[in-house]
Amino acid sequence: RPVPAAAADALEALYQRILRRDPGEPEFHQAVREVLESLAPVVAARPELADVVDRLAEPERQVLFRVPWQDDSGAVHVNRGFRVEFNGALGPYKGGLRFHPSVNLGIVKFLGFEQIFKNALTGLNIGGGKGGSDFDPRGRSAAEVMRFCQSFMTELYRHLGEHTDVPAGDIGVGVRELGYLFGQYRRVTGRWEAGALTGKGEGWGGSAGRAEATGYGTVLFTRAMLGVRGEDLEGRQVIVSGSGNVAVHAVEKARDLGAHVLTVSDSAGYVVDEKGIDLDLLKQVKLAERGRVADYAERRGASATYVPGGRVWDVPADVALPCATQNELDADAALTLVRNGVMAVAEGANMPTTPEAIHLFQDAGVAFGPGKAANAGGVAVSALEMQQNAARENWTFAQVTAKLAQIMNDIHATVAQTAERYGAPGDYVAGANIAGFERVADAMLAQGL
Ligand code: GLU
Repeated sequence: RPVPAAAADALEALYQRILRRDPGEPEFHQAVREVLESLAPVVAARPELADVVDRLAEPERQVLFRVPWQDDSGAVHVNRGFRVEFNGALGPYKGGLRFHPSVNLGIVKFLGFEQIFKNALTGLNIGGGKGGSDFDPRGRSAAEVMRFCQSFMTELYRHLGEHTDVPAGDIGVGVRELGYLFGQYRRVTGRWEAGALTGKGEGWGGSAGRAEATGYGTVLFTRAMLGVRGEDLEGRQVIVSGSGNVAVHAVEKARDLGAHVLTVSDSAGYVVDEKGIDLDLLKQVKLAERGRVADYAERRGASATYVPGGRVWDVPADVALPCATQNELDADAALTLVRNGVMAVAEGANMPTTPEAIHLFQDAGVAFGPGKAANAGGVAVSALEMQQNAARENWTFAQVTAKLAQIMNDIHATVAQTAERYGAPGDYVAGANIAGFERVADAMLAQGL
């Protein structure tokens, strides 16, 4: 079906306005462009939604704040804190906090924008937001991280609440940091308000299965995409990039489903393990010791090779799961993957694939699962954590993972059916963007200006 020209022109004009309005935010523009490129058919079919797009691209609220903290030698540092409350039509703002030196307003806006549609796709009642800081936790002691988290929350707490805005983790923010953040929230508010943060430790209000949820969900989504083609993960060669919480649990789930996972990586290089990644060793090195994948290779023995500075995309595989960070998989990497016969690519990270690379996959007939759908398992289990907190319940790992599997299958079905309905069968990017958009846009229309 041809894209309706008038609707496409109006969306392009809107994109140009957004470009001029917020210069210097390339990742945000990339995320917006991808969504707007999908929306022409829905805006043409439902003209009443046209105005909503403009409103959606502007955050409801953006908080910027100073985060002063002292290192172990007594020296004072100042970082910048961010929280972008992007869209609250479907529920409290929901999205992680990222602590990484690359964090700036444009990065937080791109992540918050993606989060709106992702959260809508879960079918649960959560709005979209994101936050973080340019603080670099690498090389910092636990005491320094604690003081940073306390200072960060001393400002941020006034914007949070179980019915207001509910952060979780992202890059650089795991259960340790969430503990320090929750402790400070409790101290300054005087409230044990479990539902104000998710990704908490299991002994103090966290959900079983939250740590696993994003990586597991990405693999479950991949399985659903392969299922449409009459394939599954059994015996498949899988490459994973990254070695953080998402990557480790993607490795775990892929292995549990019978796949052979060959790689993991970090910012210094990657490891390829011919016998398949040893999950216990990976968890020990990366999650327990906070080490590097080079340490994994050193301790693993002959089957593992460490490739400094390299990229996992050069390793031939059936399935590729980018689970590290934005724009890690470019057109050149996509060409290599396609030449090597990749069948499916699913984004465990947020926007790891460049627009050119996505088009290359789609033109080559590779099943491509965008992060809004493929990594929605993490935030979905965050919403289940909120449900448990509200009910003062603790569900078992089996209960949570069964719900996660159902949610991922439902997301896959919604996205596939939406793509089909709007004339783009098999296009999970269009399906995810349109389905997420329709749910949020309908809520915004119903709630008025
Ligand atoms: N940071 C995760 C994401 O990108 C999880 C957010 C959450 O659980 O609120 O979706």
